[in-house]
Amino acid sequence: MLTDYHTHTPLCLHAEGHPREYVRQARERGLAEIGLSDHNPMPEHFDDWRMPMADFPKYLDIVEESRAENPGFPVRLALECDYLPGRERWLEETQTLADWDYLIGSVHYIAPEWAVDDPKHISRWKGQAAVEEIWDAYWKLYEQNIRSGFFDFFAHPDLPKKFGFRPVGDLRRYYEPVIQALADVKGVLEVSTAGLRKEVGEIYPSGEMLDMAFAAGVPIVINSDAHAPGEVGQDFAKALALVRAAGYRSTVRYVKRRRIDVPLPETWPAS
Ligand SMILES: [Zn+2]
Ligand SMILES: [Zn+2]
Repeated sequence: MLTDYHTHTPLCLHAEGHPREYVRQARERGLAEIGLSDHNPMPEHFDDWRMPMADFPKYLDIVEESRAENPGFPVRLALECDYLPGRERWLEETQTLADWDYLIGSVHYIAPEWAVDDPKHISRWKGQAAVEEIWDAYWKLYEQNIRSGFFDFFAHPDLPKKFGFRPVGDLRRYYEPVIQALADVKGVLEVSTAGLRKEVGEIYPSGEMLDMAFAAGVPIVINSDAHAPGEVGQDFAKALALVRAAGYRSTVRYVKRRRIDVPLPETWPAS
């Protein structure tokens, strides 16, 4: 059975639906577990798409309530953390804020106030030189994100393809250092169906990067990055087919930051 370990709540100010509906959707889709992994709070006001620190106790309550309402169905407690160089002390402190099941490391910001997936900044993607510069900056940070040692798995790897902008030529030059970093730290790579809902219309990562990850012995975990209840477990049949084609026969689960390897199902109902 599969799980969905990357989901959001309305506390992050850009997701919809009660967490109760996310859990219900996970159960209806036949998942074995769900993990709530909202965008990590920052000590000060940082941007307008994450839970304010003042709401953090509410977040913990939501997870507790979801657990109480769903006996026998694991609801994991997690965060999707933005890796930001210079914020290591806060990320360190974040480790101790709760009894986490796992923490996800993400790169959205490649410069102050510039998130690579933000449509507000789409005009920056002008010309091949700009595209290459953005990809260079992103993948360097993604490698640092992996090597930081703060996180259990790493979200939507090739996020900069979201709008369909990609450098020309062999893209393995971007993937190689990151696959090496994952192998070095025994990190786990997320396979995210969110890209199917975006302009690019593809799973993150590309099949090519996934082949490289498999060859390097890097484990994977399939997630949706749901920002609405209907997105929980969405397109998992496609993700499963992709990872099985790359050679994968197992995925991972987490309990209090301990990784457990479990077999992948052979097939999954289309959704
Ligand atoms: Zn989000
Ligand atoms: Zn997310």
